[in-house]
Amino acid sequence: MAIINISKHISYKEANHSDTATRRGIKNEPNDEQLAAMKVLAKNVFEPLRVHFNEPIHINSFFRSVALNKTIGGSRTSQHCTGEAIDIKGTNGITNKQLFDYIKNNLEFDQLIWEFGTDKNPDWVHVSYTTTQLNRKSILKAVKGGNPVYQVMEVGNVVEEPKTTKIVKKKSTKGVIAVKTVLNIRNKPATNAKVVGQLKNGLKVKIISEDKDWYQVKTIKFSGWVSKKYVQLK
Ligand SMILES: [Zn+2]
Repeated sequence: MAIINISKHISYKEANHSDTATRRGIKNEPNDEQLAAMKVLAKNVFEPLRVHFNEPIHINSFFRSVALNKTIGGSRTSQHCTGEAIDIKGTNGITNKQLFDYIKNNLEFDQLIWEFGTDKNPDWVHVSYTTTQLNRKSILKAVKGGNPVYQVMEVGNVVEEPKTTKIVKKKSTKGVIAVKTVLNIRNKPATNAKVVGQLKNGLKVKIISEDKDWYQVKTIKFSGWVSKKYVQLK
Protein backbone atom coordinates (compact mmCIF):
# COMPACT_ATOMS: atom_id res chain seq x y z
CA MET A 1 0.00 0.00 0.00
CA ALA A 2 1.29 3.41 -0.88
CA ILE A 3 2.06 5.73 1.99
CA ILE A 4 -0.58 8.38 2.20
CA ASN A 5 0.27 11.55 4.00
CA ILE A 6 -2.41 13.85 5.28
CA SER A 7 -0.35 16.90 4.37
CA LYS A 8 3.25 17.97 4.04
CA HIS A 9 3.82 17.88 7.81
CA ILE A 10 1.31 15.27 8.95
CA SER A 11 1.92 11.62 8.34
CA TYR A 12 -0.92 9.12 8.14
CA LYS A 13 0.46 7.32 11.18
CA GLU A 14 0.66 10.45 13.29
CA ALA A 15 -2.88 11.50 12.37
CA ASN A 16 -4.43 8.21 13.38
CA HIS A 17 -2.26 7.27 16.28
CA SER A 18 -3.79 6.82 19.70
CA ASP A 19 -2.14 5.15 22.68
CA THR A 20 -5.55 4.11 23.95
CA ALA A 21 -6.48 2.54 20.62
CA THR A 22 -3.20 0.64 20.48
CA ARG A 23 -3.49 -0.52 24.06
CA ARG A 24 -7.06 -1.65 23.70
CA GLY A 25 -6.79 -3.06 20.21
CA ILE A 26 -9.33 -0.58 18.82
CA LYS A 27 -9.20 0.02 15.09
CA ASN A 28 -8.61 3.66 14.32
CA GLU A 29 -8.55 4.10 10.57
CA PRO A 30 -10.49 6.73 8.64
CA ASN A 31 -12.56 5.87 5.60
CA ASP A 32 -12.16 7.85 2.37
CA GLU A 33 -14.59 10.55 3.39
CA GLN A 34 -12.98 11.04 6.80
CA LEU A 35 -9.55 11.04 5.22
CA ALA A 36 -10.66 13.74 2.79
CA ALA A 37 -11.95 15.87 5.68
CA MET A 38 -8.63 15.48 7.49
CA LYS A 39 -6.73 16.64 4.43
CA VAL A 40 -8.91 19.72 4.13
CA LEU A 41 -8.35 20.61 7.78
CA ALA A 42 -4.61 20.04 7.48
CA LYS A 43 -4.42 22.23 4.40
CA ASN A 44 -6.49 25.09 5.80
CA VAL A 45 -5.47 25.12 9.45
CA PHE A 46 -2.48 22.98 10.33
CA GLU A 47 -0.16 23.79 7.44
CA PRO A 48 -0.67 27.57 7.61
CA LEU A 49 0.16 27.39 11.34
CA ARG A 50 3.17 25.20 10.71
CA VAL A 51 4.45 27.59 8.08
CA HIS A 52 3.79 30.70 10.16
CA PHE A 53 5.59 29.48 13.31
CA ASN A 54 8.12 27.41 11.41
CA GLU A 55 8.29 24.87 14.24
CA PRO A 56 6.80 21.41 14.58
CA ILE A 57 3.31 21.35 16.03
CA HIS A 58 2.46 18.45 18.28
CA ILE A 59 -0.72 16.53 17.49
CA ASN A 60 -2.42 15.16 20.61
CA SER A 61 -5.36 13.71 18.76
CA PHE A 62 -6.71 13.96 15.25
CA PHE A 63 -8.96 11.22 13.87
CA ARG A 64 -10.92 9.10 16.33
CA SER A 65 -13.12 6.20 15.33
CA VAL A 66 -16.49 6.10 17.09
CA ALA A 67 -15.28 3.15 19.18
CA LEU A 68 -12.15 4.99 20.28
CA ASN A 69 -14.05 8.19 20.99
CA LYS A 70 -16.49 6.29 23.18
CA THR A 71 -13.65 4.65 25.10
CA ILE A 72 -12.00 7.95 25.94
CA GLY A 73 -15.35 9.52 26.86
CA GLY A 74 -15.40 12.02 24.00
CA SER A 75 -18.55 13.89 23.01
CA ARG A 76 -20.91 11.82 20.85
CA THR A 77 -20.95 14.56 18.25
CA SER A 78 -17.18 15.02 18.29
CA GLN A 79 -15.80 16.35 15.02
CA HIS A 80 -12.74 14.17 15.65
CA CYS A 81 -14.92 11.26 14.50
CA THR A 82 -15.51 12.83 11.10
CA GLY A 83 -11.87 13.84 10.67
CA GLU A 84 -12.86 17.48 11.04
CA ALA A 85 -11.09 18.26 14.32
CA ILE A 86 -7.56 18.18 15.65
CA ASP A 87 -5.99 18.77 19.07
CA ILE A 88 -2.63 20.48 18.96
CA LYS A 89 0.15 21.86 21.12
CA GLY A 90 3.03 24.17 20.40
CA THR A 91 6.63 22.99 20.61
CA ASN A 92 10.05 24.66 20.87
CA GLY A 93 8.82 27.70 22.73
CA ILE A 94 5.64 28.24 20.73
CA THR A 95 2.86 28.42 23.31
CA ASN A 96 -0.60 26.99 22.91
CA LYS A 97 -1.95 30.51 23.32
CA GLN A 98 0.09 31.63 20.32
CA LEU A 99 -1.45 28.86 18.24
CA PHE A 100 -4.91 29.75 19.52
CA ASP A 101 -4.49 33.46 18.80
CA TYR A 102 -3.08 32.91 15.35
CA ILE A 103 -5.97 30.67 14.35
CA LYS A 104 -8.47 33.06 15.85
CA ASN A 105 -7.09 36.08 14.06
CA ASN A 106 -5.99 34.67 10.74
CA LEU A 107 -7.63 31.42 9.79
CA GLU A 108 -10.98 30.04 8.82
CA PHE A 109 -12.33 27.49 11.30
CA ASP A 110 -15.54 25.96 12.52
CA GLN A 111 -14.85 25.70 16.23
CA LEU A 112 -11.82 26.78 18.21
CA ILE A 113 -11.53 25.65 21.82
CA TRP A 114 -9.21 26.93 24.55
CA GLU A 115 -8.90 23.58 26.33
CA PHE A 116 -8.63 24.05 30.11
CA GLY A 117 -5.25 25.29 31.39
CA THR A 118 -5.10 28.79 32.82
CA ASP A 119 -6.13 32.25 31.63
CA LYS A 120 -2.61 32.63 30.24
CA ASN A 121 -2.29 29.38 28.33
CA PRO A 122 -4.61 26.48 27.46
CA ASP A 123 -3.50 22.86 28.02
CA TRP A 124 -4.05 22.29 24.31
CA VAL A 125 -5.99 23.77 21.41
CA HIS A 126 -8.89 22.02 19.69
CA VAL A 127 -9.74 23.31 16.25
CA SER A 128 -12.18 22.07 13.66
CA TYR A 129 -12.84 22.83 10.03
CA THR A 130 -15.81 21.64 8.05
CA THR A 131 -16.92 21.57 4.45
CA THR A 132 -20.39 20.21 5.09
CA GLN A 133 -21.69 23.62 6.15
CA LEU A 134 -20.37 27.14 6.58
CA ASN A 135 -17.63 27.25 9.18
CA ARG A 136 -19.22 28.82 12.26
CA LYS A 137 -16.13 30.49 13.71
CA SER A 138 -17.31 29.74 17.20
CA ILE A 139 -14.81 30.17 19.98
CA LEU A 140 -15.20 28.27 23.22
CA LYS A 141 -13.32 27.88 26.44
CA ALA A 142 -13.31 24.60 28.35
CA VAL A 143 -13.43 25.24 32.07
CA LYS A 144 -12.71 22.52 34.64
CA GLY A 145 -15.77 22.04 36.80
CA GLY A 146 -17.56 24.68 34.75
CA ASN A 147 -21.26 24.49 34.11
CA PRO A 148 -21.34 24.14 31.18
CA VAL A 149 -17.78 22.93 30.71
CA TYR A 150 -17.63 24.62 27.29
CA GLN A 151 -18.31 28.31 27.57
CA VAL A 152 -18.69 30.68 24.67
CA MET A 153 -15.79 33.12 24.37
CA GLU A 154 -16.85 34.65 21.12
CA VAL A 155 -19.03 33.62 18.24
CA GLY A 156 -18.49 34.69 14.66
CA ASN A 157 -22.22 34.37 14.12
CA VAL A 158 -21.82 33.00 10.65
CA VAL A 159 -24.42 30.28 10.88
CA GLU A 160 -24.65 29.47 14.54
CA GLU A 161 -28.01 29.84 16.19
CA PRO A 162 -27.73 31.83 19.37
CA LYS A 163 -27.43 29.48 22.32
CA THR A 164 -29.91 31.37 24.41
CA THR A 165 -33.39 31.89 23.12
CA LYS A 166 -34.01 35.39 21.99
CA ILE A 167 -37.13 36.50 23.68
CA VAL A 168 -39.26 39.10 22.07
CA LYS A 169 -40.60 41.23 24.86
CA LYS A 170 -44.26 41.82 24.49
CA LYS A 171 -46.72 43.95 26.36
CA SER A 172 -48.64 41.52 28.51
CA THR A 173 -51.88 40.34 27.04
CA LYS A 174 -54.49 37.98 28.30
CA GLY A 175 -55.34 34.61 26.86
CA VAL A 176 -57.48 31.58 27.55
CA ILE A 177 -56.23 28.02 27.37
CA ALA A 178 -58.17 26.13 24.71
CA VAL A 179 -57.50 22.38 24.85
CA LYS A 180 -59.61 19.23 25.17
CA THR A 181 -58.08 18.20 28.48
CA VAL A 182 -54.95 19.82 29.85
CA LEU A 183 -52.01 21.69 28.39
CA ASN A 184 -48.40 21.18 29.45
CA ILE A 185 -46.55 24.29 30.54
CA ARG A 186 -42.79 24.04 30.09
CA ASN A 187 -39.69 25.77 31.44
CA LYS A 188 -38.43 26.64 27.94
CA PRO A 189 -40.05 27.29 24.55
CA ALA A 190 -39.44 23.79 23.15
CA THR A 191 -41.46 20.57 22.97
CA ASN A 192 -38.69 18.65 24.71
CA ALA A 193 -38.37 21.16 27.55
CA LYS A 194 -39.22 20.17 31.10
CA VAL A 195 -42.91 20.22 31.97
CA VAL A 196 -43.45 22.42 35.00
CA GLY A 197 -47.20 21.94 35.25
CA GLN A 198 -50.50 21.46 33.48
CA LEU A 199 -53.11 24.04 32.64
CA LYS A 200 -56.80 23.21 32.38
CA ASN A 201 -58.98 24.13 29.46
CA GLY A 202 -60.57 27.54 29.94
CA LEU A 203 -57.92 28.78 32.33
CA LYS A 204 -57.08 32.47 31.99
CA VAL A 205 -53.41 33.27 31.57
CA LYS A 206 -51.29 36.36 31.34
CA ILE A 207 -48.98 36.39 28.32
CA ILE A 208 -45.66 38.00 29.18
CA SER A 209 -43.61 37.35 26.08
CA GLU A 210 -43.39 35.20 23.00
CA ASP A 211 -40.82 33.26 21.05
CA LYS A 212 -41.70 31.82 17.66
CA ASP A 213 -44.62 29.40 18.28
CA TRP A 214 -44.57 29.83 22.04
CA TYR A 215 -46.06 32.15 24.60
CA GLN A 216 -44.50 32.70 27.97
CA VAL A 217 -47.45 32.76 30.32
CA LYS A 218 -48.17 33.30 33.97
CA THR A 219 -50.96 31.88 36.06
CA ILE A 220 -51.43 32.03 39.80
CA LYS A 221 -49.64 28.71 40.16
CA PHE A 222 -47.25 28.49 37.23
CA SER A 223 -44.96 30.47 35.01
CA GLY A 224 -43.59 28.97 31.81
CA TRP A 225 -44.03 28.35 28.10
CA VAL A 226 -47.00 26.98 26.17
CA SER A 227 -47.64 26.41 22.49
CA LYS A 228 -49.45 29.34 20.86
CA LYS A 229 -51.81 26.88 19.19
CA TYR A 230 -53.66 26.31 22.43
CA VAL A 231 -54.05 29.85 23.60
CA GLN A 232 -56.93 32.00 22.50
CA LEU A 233 -56.18 35.68 22.80
CA LYS A 234 -58.70 37.72 24.66
ZN1 LIG B 1 -10.44 17.95 20.39
